[in-house]
Amino acid sequence: MRTEENYTLLAPGPVAVSKAAIDELVKPMIHHRTPEFTSIFKRVLTNLKSVFQTRQPVMILTSSGSGAMEAALVNTLSAGDSVVCIVSGKFGRRWEEMAQVYGLNVTSIDVEEGEAVCPDEVKAVLDNNPQIKAVFCQACETSTGVLHPIKELAALTKEHDALMIVDGITALCANPLPMDEWGIDVLVGGSQKAFMIPTGLGLIALSEKAWKASEKSSLPKYYFDLKAERKAHERGQTHFSSAVSHIRALDAVLIDILDQGLDSLLELVNRRAQATRQAGKILGLELFPDTPAPALSAFKVPEGIDGAALRSLIEKDFRVTLMGGQDGLKGKIIRIGHIGALDPQDTLGGIKALAQGLQAMGV
Ligand SMILES: *Cc1c(COP(=O)(O)O)cnc(C)c1O
Repeated sequence: MRTEENYTLLAPGPVAVSKAAIDELVKPMIHHRTPEFTSIFKRVLTNLKSVFQTRQPVMILTSSGSGAMEAALVNTLSAGDSVVCIVSGKFGRRWEEMAQVYGLNVTSIDVEEGEAVCPDEVKAVLDNNPQIKAVFCQACETSTGVLHPIKELAALTKEHDALMIVDGITALCANPLPMDEWGIDVLVGGSQKAFMIPTGLGLIALSEKAWKASEKSSLPKYYFDLKAERKAHERGQTHFSSAVSHIRALDAVLIDILDQGLDSLLELVNRRAQATRQAGKILGLELFPDTPAPALSAFKVPEGIDGAALRSLIEKDFRVTLMGGQDGLKGKIIRIGHIGALDPQDTLGGIKALAQGLQAMGV
């Protein structure tokens, strides 16, 4: 959808916000301790379970996605616990940094950027370190566009009686990630990705095993105390003030998603991805990740072209926001998002802008 600034936002988050969400965001405020709000909130919680594909409660935190990542960590572990962090890009690094900040004993599995982790490698680490309590991974590592084999990893961690803690922030509502069926122990989401609303909500659900672990967890937590949050949620409230406007917007989006069926949204995202990748091939572009996630397409920037300059030119001259690479990948890749409230014209416009940008730079 075109924004007021008349530019097309094709980042893998934040994304173009759905019209239904915008209509909710501009409504007059209601208090969060009213029956009106409680009934909306309860419907959102029910619908979130459908999207997470879990029987467990899904909790809504007022934070960006990283807040929910932190909640996942501090509610399930204790200082000195041994954990594995799969680091295949910027967001895997974030799990690693957090785990270190909280005094966990971290073993990192460094994966070449653009590659998915090999489950055998994780199995070997678990076999050699029976004391490991949790494995942290992204379902989609947004910085490289890679999709990790979460189903296989979850099966491994289960065998080793460790927790599988998954950042599903760009995977939820973009690719299959059935929490209960795959045996994911903690699943984290964020509002500004495929949920199509602005940044501001962190989403999180814990398996029975993870709730049990939370009983023993001694890491400090106050704002992100999920036991207190769960109790409040059971009363149809949040522990602190609710992000009323965001939650109403989420309500509208979830109703839409479930009306059409989650599968049809996943299909739509995948169709945008396939179209973009076909077009990229025609333009002579190579995909960066070996197993690309549906949420975004990351292409290698052609030899001799500065990707950062390409990205700025496309934004300035064609009013399309794509994302470049971060940290070590700066200037080397260009990322096109397939999530958010996009028309087919938006996806086509992104491809066209990329082609024109490349042409302008002499490719
Ligand atoms: C966007 C994103 C996050 C969360 O970032 P916030 O800025 O805290 O919302 C975390 N992990 C992944 C994989 C992401 O794409």
